[in-house]
Amino acid sequence: MSEGKSAADELQQHLQRLSNAFALRLQEELPALGQDAERLLHAAEQHEQLQHLQSLRDQLHKLAGAAGTFGFSSLGQRARELEQEADQWLQTLQQEQQSLQDFIGNLQQLATQQYQAESTQAPATQAAKAPRPSSNARRIYILEDQLAIGENMRLTLNNFGYQAEHFTRIVDLDAALQQQLPDALIVDVNLPDEELTGLAYAASLQQRLDEPLPLLVITTQNDFATHLEAVRVGAMGFFTKPVDIPQLENRLERCFSQQQGEPYRVLIIDDDRELASRFSLILRGANMLVEMLHEPADIFECMRDFNPEVVLLDVSMPDCTGPELAQIIRMNDEWLRVPIIYLSAETDIGRQMNALIKAGDDFVTKPISDNALVAAVFSRAQRARLLSNALSRDSLTGLLKHADIKEQAAVELERAQRSGKPASVAMLDIDFFKKVNDSYGHAAGDNVIRALANLLRQRLRRIDSLGRYGGEEFLVVLPDCPADQAKRILDEIRQRFAELNFIASGSEFSVTLSAGIASTADAPTSSGDFLEKADRALYAAKHGGRNQVR
Ligand code: GH3
Ligand code: MG
Ligand code: MG
Repeated sequence: MSEGKSAADELQQHLQRLSNAFALRLQEELPALGQDAERLLHAAEQHEQLQHLQSLRDQLHKLAGAAGTFGFSSLGQRARELEQEADQWLQTLQQEQQSLQDFIGNLQQLATQQYQAESTQAPATQAAKAPRPSSNARRIYILEDQLAIGENMRLTLNNFGYQAEHFTRIVDLDAALQQQLPDALIVDVNLPDEELTGLAYAASLQQRLDEPLPLLVITTQNDFATHLEAVRVGAMGFFTKPVDIPQLENRLERCFSQQQGEPYRVLIIDDDRELASRFSLILRGANMLVEMLHEPADIFECMRDFNPEVVLLDVSMPDCTGPELAQIIRMNDEWLRVPIIYLSAETDIGRQMNALIKAGDDFVTKPISDNALVAAVFSRAQRARLLSNALSRDSLTGLLKHADIKEQAAVELERAQRSGKPASVAMLDIDFFKKVNDSYGHAAGDNVIRALANLLRQRLRRIDSLGRYGGEEFLVVLPDCPADQAKRILDEIRQRFAELNFIASGSEFSVTLSAGIASTADAPTSSGDFLEKADRALYAAKHGGRNQVR
């Protein structure tokens, strides 16, 4: 609690400092504006007037966006009004000179007055979530009155590395909940022997808890009303029977990854450094990772290294406009998934539309309240991450697909060569997998693949990348990890995998894997060579008798 408070205080202080810096800036910008007004007053020729008007319009535009954001709201509003007037003057400079005089007078008044911030509102800080106590394996409770269905689900989920428990009656589930809360709950809707439906029970349970449990619904009723009821009790997944358990497990993983949610990465591109700093503070206060870019030419490096999930882009910048920069970003297919939001003082709908038609996805106008900024960025980032995961992840395992994991290996090789810290890659292949398929069926084979994917996810670090390289082949990229350490980790995974018991068509079986490791210490000449070295080591492991790491 006290920690949260001091963080908020610190943020408040930062905001105050930025607001002060902006106030200082005003002391230079406003006189400059006044001088331009003076020049406009004395301009004899129409083309001179136009020139000064244009410059004034641009300055007012910038001021209108920034002032409101830093708490100088009446200044911001006045600047906006004058900007619009300047626009009109630009369009119809056939003037009754008197009104132009008035306009200049207004400008001079704006430029000479004293201003103080009327408010610097504190941003929306999100209370940090208390982590749910959880051991390595995620605990899943299943409420399903039909014994066979529930047990099947329990066993399959256990095979995937979860710690699942199955209950046929509400009283038993309630008793278990008293002992320990699960990481997720799966409920059946129809419970003929109970007074409540599964959904009604879940609704009352969620109300009792401090924080709602991730909830999945399984049912034979696929109608709209049941969907609606499920959404209203906060369900995150809806599955009709017979349940495709790998799909259900996929959804569980998605719930968990949303929950522990790595912070969203946001890139802010604005030539106005103070404004960018302020937006950055607000978003950091809402637990996002923010980088600022002031030099449009650095865009490639920044996109590559920081890999933002959302780009906030100013529209009018001196060297390169926002829409131009957005088009540059859009020329690269790799960044298609990244939403581009214009953050601009532009209120002219026509100009907004023009910018959007060139490139970019959305428009947010400055000044913007802190909460609105956080909500705008958060919602886009959330959706972008969901979509990006759906696109780059293999649907059976949830791991990266071939191209993406290869890309990751190349990135880490390059990073290791730059930093001198060794990285390793490991190529894994399931032994005699054809036999699994032949003896127990393709579906059982799929479960084995998923189980291995799960094991890898649970055993490896957050910074490691996991990919499904081919059918039953996996590629693991381990940054900052020398070969001997990689060997230890992979060997532990190999042992644990061999210990897993699979059940299919009534019989139990187990499976082994082989792995080959290559390290940047082997001086690979390219990322292709890097992977080939790992592949050769894997080949050696297969020929050495399988169930081993080389
Ligand atoms: P080795 O120990 O030499 O690796 O033998 P293996 O049988 O595992 O190797 P092989 O490459 O000959 O066979 C791999 C099999 O994996 C062939 C293919 O039918 C199966 N397979 C590939 N992708 C999938 C999948 O997504 N699901 C299932 N169930 N099987 C798959
Ligand atoms: Mg194999
Ligand atoms: Mg193979």
